[in-house]
Amino acid sequence: MSALESFLTEVAGEIGADEISRSDESIERYGENTLPGGDKPPAAIVYPGSTSEVQAIVRAANIHKIALYPNSTGANIGLGTRCATHAGQVVVDMGKRMNRILEVDEKLGYAVVEPGVTYQMLYDELVRLGDTLMMDVTSGPPHGGVLGNALDKGAGYTPYFDHFGFSCGMEVVLGNGEILRTGDGSLDVDNLANWHTSKYSLGPILDGLFTQSNYGIVTRMGMWLLPRPPAVRTFHFTFPDDDDLGEIIELCRPLKMSNFVPSLFRVSNDLYLCGTEVQNPEYEASGGKMSISDEGRKALHMAHGLGSWTVSGAFYGPSMEALEPQIQRVVSHFGQSDKARYVPHERAQEMAPLETATKAFSGIPWSGELGLLKWRPGGGNSWFLPGMTMDGAVANELQSICRGSFEKHGFDYMVMNVCGPRFARGLNVLVFNREDDDECQRADACYREMSEAVIQRGIFVGRAPIDYHGYHMDQVMPAFRDSCNAVKSALDPQGVIAPGRYGIG
Ligand SMILES: Cc1cc2nc3c(=O)[nH]c(=O)nc-3n(C[C@H](O)[C@H](O)[C@H](O)COP(=O)(O)OP(=O)(O)OC[C@H]3O[C@@H](n4cnc5c(N)ncnc54)[C@H](O)[C@@H]3O)c2cc1C
Repeated sequence: MSALESFLTEVAGEIGADEISRSDESIERYGENTLPGGDKPPAAIVYPGSTSEVQAIVRAANIHKIALYPNSTGANIGLGTRCATHAGQVVVDMGKRMNRILEVDEKLGYAVVEPGVTYQMLYDELVRLGDTLMMDVTSGPPHGGVLGNALDKGAGYTPYFDHFGFSCGMEVVLGNGEILRTGDGSLDVDNLANWHTSKYSLGPILDGLFTQSNYGIVTRMGMWLLPRPPAVRTFHFTFPDDDDLGEIIELCRPLKMSNFVPSLFRVSNDLYLCGTEVQNPEYEASGGKMSISDEGRKALHMAHGLGSWTVSGAFYGPSMEALEPQIQRVVSHFGQSDKARYVPHERAQEMAPLETATKAFSGIPWSGELGLLKWRPGGGNSWFLPGMTMDGAVANELQSICRGSFEKHGFDYMVMNVCGPRFARGLNVLVFNREDDDECQRADACYREMSEAVIQRGIFVGRAPIDYHGYHMDQVMPAFRDSCNAVKSALDPQGVIAPGRYGIG
């Protein structure tokens, strides 16, 4: 019997043969992603129902030397979806059976979730409980998961935008099969009082080890929730020209540094917003070989009442009226630019491309932004996520690098800069036809070219599509890489969990 057969037989004895799939349909579905590098079919998929079943799977993998790949909800679209690092790994999908909301503490404002809990599931439960608590959501798939997204250092837009930062307390099955509880959960008693309320407990903060890594399988996580404010009032400003980005960043920074604006700023270019609603009108004419023309792009943003750039943010308070003074202050601040055009909340609610922003600032999962996947045919989608210092000159330089690469390789430049006080994450979306080999090759070349160019300026990515994990790990200093691998050896000595994920192991 092969090692895989022996492993699956042992796992079947622990979790039931029905909770293992090797059907062609499953292999195809779990191997598929939206990246240029091609599918990576797994050897099998196993569906544990509890932490002890995850432990049993990890122990069997150690015995039979099988590589596992954990998934929570597997909606990591644009970064690998539900696909493993390498073909032939066994996917451990916790979305099917480990999808319970274990606790919602309304007094202390947190939820405790298993890996398979999606944003939509948690939102529905909070509404059912009376809608007194608001979670932070991504503007991506509502079927994405609270735990998996936090582990991949995902983020949203409300004051609780930092999903790992607002998580508190994990249970992890380590690569050696042992269970670790982080933070206050490390206390060896059953009646833990502060596991999900205290972030900085005794000893080193181990939680971060389980983000963007492969040292363990997280089976439980606490997530802090904001009391739902009675009113959420968004504001938006459009700017006409591409080079206005520098001025926008200079206007946003002081409002975030003083924390006057409590949300992050979404600074989106025209195609990022219009692309959620329409397909590229020039795709057929160029056979996908050229970027949309400047005239075509301008016509699109004009038709949607937008500019080359649109800035969005939000205030939270007791009523819409109570928020009026803050709105007036922000309008006057942006009024320093004679290029800014104010779009009030009420008007934005009627504009389809701004619907995702208003929903995301309100903590409501929404699928509208997935429309970007249809901008070109073929469903290819890859995200390039460099950091950007909140400095107007740097912003325009980064724009020029990325816009230049998109255009050189015949793609349509789509970006949203998600801005905090000192730093923004640039969400550059490469949409391409995955059924066209030439477009796949160009998408790959474009990604690498942008990466090399930003590195020359000391800029790194903060998260990466799965095909580029090893590529980026090769760009770090040796001591960082060696430290990551040393931790791997300590916590997963046989290297059974997602070998190669983020270039580790
Ligand atoms: C249009 C669009 C908009 C998007 N907007 C956003 C956005 O606003 N913010 C954002 O953050 N992302 C965004 N994304 C990216 C992505 O789709 C989301 O982050 C999504 O939530 C990630 O998938 P998931 O939550 O299902 O995580 P999963 O796929 O379940 O997990 C992510 C990764 O973490 C690892 N992992 C998962 N579970 C475990 C576990 N239990 N233990 C150990 N490792 C584990 C897996 O290896 C997996 O690859 C967007 C994508 C698109 C296409």
